[in-house]
Amino acid sequence: MTTHHLESETILRLAGGSLDPVLALVARTHIACCPECGGALAALEDAGGVFLDDIAPEPVSATLRERALAALDTAPETPATPAQRPIALQPGTVPAPLDAMIGDDLSAVRWRSIAPGVAKHDLPTPKGSRGRLFLLKIAPGKRVPEHGHGGTELTMVLSGSYSDHLGCFGPGDVADLDADLEHRPHVDPGAPCISVVASETPVRFKGLIGRLLQPVLGI
Ligand SMILES: [Zn+2]
Repeated sequence: MTTHHLESETILRLAGGSLDPVLALVARTHIACCPECGGALAALEDAGGVFLDDIAPEPVSATLRERALAALDTAPETPATPAQRPIALQPGTVPAPLDAMIGDDLSAVRWRSIAPGVAKHDLPTPKGSRGRLFLLKIAPGKRVPEHGHGGTELTMVLSGSYSDHLGCFGPGDVADLDADLEHRPHVDPGAPCISVVASETPVRFKGLIGRLLQPVLGI
């Protein structure tokens, strides 16, 4: 599976206009600082006349997915940029298009404490979205209880970093998690981790502690 970048299916749905607007906003914010995902989106948009008009606003069919991935495989390579991790963001800055919503200075965000070491800032949900969008600030060294996800969730780190079994996620990295994945992230020592989260449905916490925390955390 893809880690630190958008899944191919997410880029496909973004190109076809069927990605929920909250997910699309976070996807485009990652793309603004990731040549690799930006190249994949450009290749799909170039191929748009061929098949994108056929995309139904529903889960992508296996056939369509194969055709799209084939289009990606035959797309010209993006110029000699190593396909590695996204460009690191300047600490505390906010890339477009998220900056239009929260400004470009993370230190100016007004946080609401929701649990010890955890603060949240709700963002307005774009029209037509059924999802939720918020910023999350978690203290250094803090562990989040193991949880799964009711639907697709995109988390992009803006400042600091966190780690789980998929690796370490720093500024610019995105976690594109589907409903099947369960993880137990912890924030790395040194600085709080600030991320923007878009989710189709609420997070599902496991275990007694997690279930008790769920209504408190409200995420
Ligand atoms: Zn990427």
